[in-house]
Amino acid sequence: MANQEDFFKKVVAHAKEYGFIFPSSEIYDGLAAVYDYGQLGTELKNNIKQYWWRSMVQYHENIVGIDSAIFMHPKIWKASGHVDAFNDPLIDNRDSKKRYRADVLIENHIAKIEDKIEKECAKAQKRFGDAFDRQQFVSTNARVLEHQQQIDSIRARYAECMNDNDLAGLKQMILDLGIVCPISGTRNWTDVRQFNLMFATKMGSVEGENDTLYLRPETAQGIFVNFLNVQKSGRMKVPFGIAQVGKAFRNEIVARQFIFRMREFEQMEMQFFVRPGTELEWFRYWKEERLKWHLSLGIDASNYRYHDHEKLAHYANAATDIEFLFPFGFKELEGIHSRTNFDLSRHSEFSGKKLQYFDSELNESYTPYVIETSIGVDRTFLAIFSHALKEQTLDDGSSRTLLSLPPVLAPYKAAILPLVKKDGLPEKAREIMDLLKYDYMLQYDEKDAIGRRYRRQDAIGTPFCITVDNDTLQDNNVTVRHRDTMQQERVAIDQLHTYLNQQLKPLR
Ligand code: ATP
Repeated sequence: MANQEDFFKKVVAHAKEYGFIFPSSEIYDGLAAVYDYGQLGTELKNNIKQYWWRSMVQYHENIVGIDSAIFMHPKIWKASGHVDAFNDPLIDNRDSKKRYRADVLIENHIAKIEDKIEKECAKAQKRFGDAFDRQQFVSTNARVLEHQQQIDSIRARYAECMNDNDLAGLKQMILDLGIVCPISGTRNWTDVRQFNLMFATKMGSVEGENDTLYLRPETAQGIFVNFLNVQKSGRMKVPFGIAQVGKAFRNEIVARQFIFRMREFEQMEMQFFVRPGTELEWFRYWKEERLKWHLSLGIDASNYRYHDHEKLAHYANAATDIEFLFPFGFKELEGIHSRTNFDLSRHSEFSGKKLQYFDSELNESYTPYVIETSIGVDRTFLAIFSHALKEQTLDDGSSRTLLSLPPVLAPYKAAILPLVKKDGLPEKAREIMDLLKYDYMLQYDEKDAIGRRYRRQDAIGTPFCITVDNDTLQDNNVTVRHRDTMQQERVAIDQLHTYLNQQLKPLR
C-alpha cells in the first residue's frame, strides 16, 4: 500500500514537472479538486477526446455529435431527477472532522475483503504452480468462500439501504462492519445525511424566485433535450446515437484523488436511442464495444474489469461500470447504463412537448429507449498516464523514467534532433520539421548531449526520436529511435511520412 501511495505521488509530481497537470490557482494556494492542464497535458487530453470522437462518430454512420450549452433551463434538472435525487450520502468523523461518502467507506471495506481473497489465491498459486486452477480454487476453498459470502451479504444489505434511502441503516452498517476513520482510527461517526452535488448560480441581474441555474452535473441532458432537433435535422433512424464531449460540474464531498474526482471535469458521453424491448441487447453490445475501445489502446486486459451494479439509479434497468486498476485499486472509469425511456418521457412531461419517434418500419410512434456510455476524460487521462509511467533500470545499470503512452495519444509524435549544433545539421533538421509539421506534433531540440535529449523525450512519452547526423547530409537517411525498445533504425527522409503514418495508425 505504501508503495502504491508513493507511486501515486510520483504520478502527480511527474504530471506537474513536465507540464501535464498543475493545481488550479496554485499561486493562491490552489483550489480543492480543481486542476489546470498544462502544455503537454492539453495535447494528451485533446488526443484522448479525438480518439474517442473518431471511434464513436467517425466510425459509426449512425452516431452524430453535438456541443450543447452548459447552462440549461432549470426545469431540466427537475425533470431529470437531479434536483431531488442527485445526492451522495455523507458522514463525518467527529474526531478527525473529516467528511466521507458513506457508500465509499463501505466499498473500501469490501475492497479489503477482496484483497484477502487475492492473497489466498496468490498463496495457492505459489503452492500449486502451473497446476493452479483459479476458478476451481475460488469455488471450493473454505476461506475464500467465507470471504465471498461476507462480500455478498454486505452488498445485499447496502443495496437495500440505498434503494430504500435508509440513511440510518447505512450508518448502522458502518458501525456493524467496524469501519474506522482512516485518519483518527475511531468509530465516532455522525448520522448519515444526503448532500446534493449540483452547483447553483443565478442568471441575469434581477434575482427572483425561479432564476436558479445549475452548472450541468452531466452532459447527457443536453443530448436528451436535443433529441428531436438532431433526429429531424439529421434524418436519423432508430437505432442511432448522439455523442457529446464537454464539461460537467459536481460539488464532490470527498475529492482527494487528484484528477480521479474533480469538481470540474469533462465527460465523453453517447446516448444511443433504440426500439423499446431491444435495449438489453444493445446494452450488451455497448458493454463489449466499450471494453474493446479501451483494449485498443494496448493496455493489458488484466487492468480492466466489469462491475455490474446492484443498486440501479432511478432511471436504469441495467448498469455496469468498466473499472480500471488505478494506483489506488480498481475504480470506475466508465459507466454503461440502460436508461429506459425515463429521460425522454420526463422531458415530454415537464416541457409539454412530445418527444417521440415515428418508426416507419413498424408504422408506429414510440418513445425510444436509451443506452448510455459515459466516460470521464480526466479519469481516462489518469488511467493512461499512471499506467504509462515507469522507472526502468537499463542493461548498463543506469536508469530512465519512461512514459510509455500509446503512440496515437502521445503529445509529441516525434522529436527532431540534430546530433550536434553545427555543420549544417540544425538546418537539415529544420527541413525535416517543415516536411512533417503539418501532419504531426513535433518537438525540435538541439540542446545538451543526445542521450539527455532522448531521456527528456522518454519522460514525456514521445514515441520516436529522429536524429540527424553527418551521414544524413550525404545519404538523406536519419536514425529513428523507438521510445520503448530504444532500438534504432535508419529511415530515408522521403519515407518518414509513410513510416510515421504506419507506426501511429490508431488501432481499431
Ligand atoms: P463515482 O461513483 O466515481 O462518483 P459516478 O457513477 O457518479 O462516479 P457517472 O455519473 O456514471 O459517475 O459519470 C460517468 C463518468 O464520468 C464516470 O465513469 C467518470 O469517469 C466520470 N466522472 C464522474 N464524476 C467525476 C468526477 N468528480 N471527476 C472526474 N470524473 C468524473
